[in-house]
Amino acid sequence: MGVFSLESVIESFEASTRDAGKVQIETLRRILEENAEAEYLQSWGLAGRTDPDSFKACVPLVTHPDLEPYIRRIADGDASPVLTGKPITSMSLSSGTTQGRPKLVPFNDELVKSTMQIYQTSYAFRNREFPIANGKALQFIYSSKQIMTRGGLTATTATTNVYRSEQFKCTMKNLQSQCCSPDEVIFGSDFHQSLYCHLLCGLIFSNEVQLVSSTFAHSIVHAFRTFEEVWEELCADIRGGVLSSRITIPSMRAAVSELLKPNPELADSIDKKCSHLSNWYGVIPELWPNAKYVYGIMTGSMEPYLKKLRHYAGNLPLMTADYGSSEGWIAANVNPALPPESATFAVLPDIGYFEFIPLEEKPEQTLEKRPSTAPYAESEPVGLTEVEVGKEYEMVITSFAGLYRYRLGDVVKVAGFYNSTPELKFVCRRSLLLTINIDKNTEKDLQLAVEEAAKLLAAEKLEVVDFSSHVDVSTDPGHYVIFWELNGDAGEDVLSSCCDCLDRSFIDAGYVGSRKVRAIGPLELRVVQRGTFQKILDHFLSLGAAVSQFKTPRCVGLSNSKVLQILNNNVMDRYFSAAYD
Ligand code: AMP
Repeated sequence: MGVFSLESVIESFEASTRDAGKVQIETLRRILEENAEAEYLQSWGLAGRTDPDSFKACVPLVTHPDLEPYIRRIADGDASPVLTGKPITSMSLSSGTTQGRPKLVPFNDELVKSTMQIYQTSYAFRNREFPIANGKALQFIYSSKQIMTRGGLTATTATTNVYRSEQFKCTMKNLQSQCCSPDEVIFGSDFHQSLYCHLLCGLIFSNEVQLVSSTFAHSIVHAFRTFEEVWEELCADIRGGVLSSRITIPSMRAAVSELLKPNPELADSIDKKCSHLSNWYGVIPELWPNAKYVYGIMTGSMEPYLKKLRHYAGNLPLMTADYGSSEGWIAANVNPALPPESATFAVLPDIGYFEFIPLEEKPEQTLEKRPSTAPYAESEPVGLTEVEVGKEYEMVITSFAGLYRYRLGDVVKVAGFYNSTPELKFVCRRSLLLTINIDKNTEKDLQLAVEEAAKLLAAEKLEVVDFSSHVDVSTDPGHYVIFWELNGDAGEDVLSSCCDCLDRSFIDAGYVGSRKVRAIGPLELRVVQRGTFQKILDHFLSLGAAVSQFKTPRCVGLSNSKVLQILNNNVMDRYFSAAYD
């Protein structure tokens, strides 16, 4: 196939993972040599040394705020080698949906290259087990606005930077995964219009579509929730060959109209299929009969959408995509047959230099009032091949794009090894979500509690569309607040039981103990109106975030006042738990 062969991609992955330790030393040497001129590295006195020991001895572990002054100078137009040998000419805006505001991180061609390498690697493994034919991909991908920094650098989300690159299109063609929609749809300035056109183009090419994908699974679920509402309009467009008047962007109208010809047979068949579906179960294989799987990041904060995604995907396998961030890629999914819940990611030892901070839960008695980001005891970072199976670590990356010993804030668990490189399970973001005193509940704990309580809704055929949380310390004692958006009306009794169940499902000893002695008040469930989480998405889009990278903020602090305001302004009902009465 194409210009690259699957076997050679797998062979080079095998080769680099066979002696991952050696490849890491070599990768660090390349990074430090290429960037030896960088003021940042010089200031730490590396003096040309490129070995891991000197690197660790001289250069400190950092987080984004430590690098902000350097990044700011680059953004303001300082073209001297600040963080990298070759000047940085564009920036990425990390999604920032977890923190509330996007962060700037350097972007360069090396990141495009490693993105392509990771895409090719996981595709090679995927295609070995689930081969796709030459065709198209129904991809729900969206670009974000491009802004200019004060110094004239372009800044946009990392996914947009990638979609804009020539290499992306070329690679996608080789991976037989060309997007159904024209560029005018992907790069359109209005997300709602782009989404409608993605669905329409997907239907026009329904027989050619080999897979349905997005960067993060949230976009696929969101797309099909929208499909449920607009499918008749889509059918009408296909029947008459005239694009709905809701598409007002001239370039998007022109590009999609070009593809749209009157096709009453196709419209009839879509109509018939949709009318026969039961609550949209299996809509994807029904309308895209040649699709082989659904693909996108489905782990971490995307897990809550899996149930709905499975519903839409029917009998099609769900395959979770790779692990990385705007700051750099880390690991590929080379076990595509594993369900997303048990997926692991094998680190590519030649795309960056990776360190792992061992995390151990602090013994309960030492837990006095802690800063909200330190639920773990840390020890010295270890190298890629020194990690131990079963242990949890915080990821630290050193990239080809000017980040050195950068703490990513993600917690991963080592599930095993592929040759000599670790296979990681994504656990959660490091930042602690819910904490009032000695309690500590992470994003994962919240997810499990919501899953448990949502089971009570299933009997009523209701589901949680999306959720978030907040620590309310304006009351004394403080208490947890959980926000739920439901897809229909639930009775008071069932919601009241859900609220009790949520409270009981936080099983962390610190929480249970505090609840029993009333050091934490009854958990509060606030049910918000339908469409509230859409408003939150729209709010992030207005800040320059991209739908492609959107992650629902699962815990909203006071610093995220706008999102908190959206949530609170849309509350319909409140329930207080009686679980510990
Ligand atoms: P962004 O700021 O948009 O670049 O998002 C990067 C973050 O998304 C990472 O630091 C992770 O927390 C999360 N993420 C990326 N890939 C995965 C994955 N495969 N599974 C779970 N979370 C992921």
